Amino acid sequence: MAQSEFALIQRYFTTATAGRGDVRLGIGDDCAVLVPPAGADLAVSMDTLVEGRHFLPGCDAVALGHKSLAVNLSDLAATGAEPAWATLALTLPDADEAWLQAFMQGFSALAARYRVQLVGGDTTRGPRSITIQVHGFVGPGQALRRDGGSAGDRLFVSGTVGDAALALQQRLAGGPVDAGAVRRMDWPEPQVGLGLLLRDHASAAIDISDGLVGDLGHLCAASATGARIVLADLPLGGSVAAACAAGDWRLPLAGGDDYELLFCVPEQGVDAMLVACREGGHAVTDIGCLAPGRGITLVYPDGTQSRDIPHGFDHFRD
Ligand code: ADP
Ligand code: MG
Repeated sequence: MAQSEFALIQRYFTTATAGRGDVRLGIGDDCAVLVPPAGADLAVSMDTLVEGRHFLPGCDAVALGHKSLAVNLSDLAATGAEPAWATLALTLPDADEAWLQAFMQGFSALAARYRVQLVGGDTTRGPRSITIQVHGFVGPGQALRRDGGSAGDRLFVSGTVGDAALALQQRLAGGPVDAGAVRRMDWPEPQVGLGLLLRDHASAAIDISDGLVGDLGHLCAASATGARIVLADLPLGGSVAAACAAGDWRLPLAGGDDYELLFCVPEQGVDAMLVACREGGHAVTDIGCLAPGRGITLVYPDGTQSRDIPHGFDHFRD
C-alpha cells in the first residue's frame, strides 16, 4: 500500500493492544523480537478469513475483528496453550479508516481479555482478507493434541452446538433470525480457560470449526479410533433443539463455526475433570465415547443406530 496511506493507518496497529513484558521489540521494526518463557513449548496457529467465503461483504467490522482473532485463539484453546502474541496480515481494497478503526476495536477488545499483544503484520492492497497468526505457551510436552484418544474414553463437548449454523442458515434465507444464534455466529467465544484446565484431564482435544462430526472425524483419525454419539445427550440451544425434534440433526452434527471444544477423557478421570470444570464455571456435556474400529455411529433418541452422517452446509465456508 502507498506509503502515505500506510502512515495514516499504522497508528491503528501500534496502539491496538497493551504491551507485554516478553516483547523485546514490537511493531515498527523489521521483525518483532519475542522472549518465550524458558523451557516452554511455543504453540503457533494461523487462520485466514476471505471476504465472500468466510464473511459477507459489508458485515459489521467490529464483529469481524473479534471473530478473526477468536477463531485463532480457539486453536490455542484446543491445544491448551496460554495466548501471548499475534501477527496480522491485512489485505484491503482501500485505506478505509472507519472500517479499520472498527475492525481493530473488535480485535483489541478480545486481545485485551486474553492479554494478547499485536507484535507485527503486513498490509497490502487487494480483495479484502484477514490472516492472523497467534502464538501461545504450554509446558514442555503438555500440549493437548488430536492423537491421544483411546477406545473407551468418554467424549465431551463444551457449551452448545449448532447455533452458529442456524444463524448462517437464517441469514442466507433472509427471513427472521434468532438473536442468540446470530451472536454465537458473529461473536464466538474462544474456550481458552477450558483448554488450559483440560491439559490435566483430556487425552485428546479439537475445536469445532467445521462441525461436530467432521471435527470428531479428525480426532478419531489421529487417534485411530471410531466413536459413538448419543444424539439425545447433545447440548442444544432452543431453536436448534426444535429443528432436531423435527428430525433434522444437521445443525448440531454438520454445522460449523461453534468454536466449542470437543475432547475425550479416560473413564477413570471423568469425575476429577467434571469437578474442575464446575469450579472453573465451564459447561461440558458427555455426548458419547471413542470406540474400537473406525467410523462414527449415531445413536438416535428412538434407539436406532446409524452410520449415515447428515451432510453439512459447506457453502460459504471451508
Ligand atoms: P517492512 O517493509 O519492513 O515489511 P512494513 O512497512 O510492512 O515493514 O511494516 C512496518 C511495521 O508495521 C512492521 O513492524 C510491521 O510488523 C507493522 N505492520 C504492518 N502491517 C501491520 C498489520 N496489519 N498489523 C500489525 N502490524 C503491522
Ligand atoms: Mg511488510
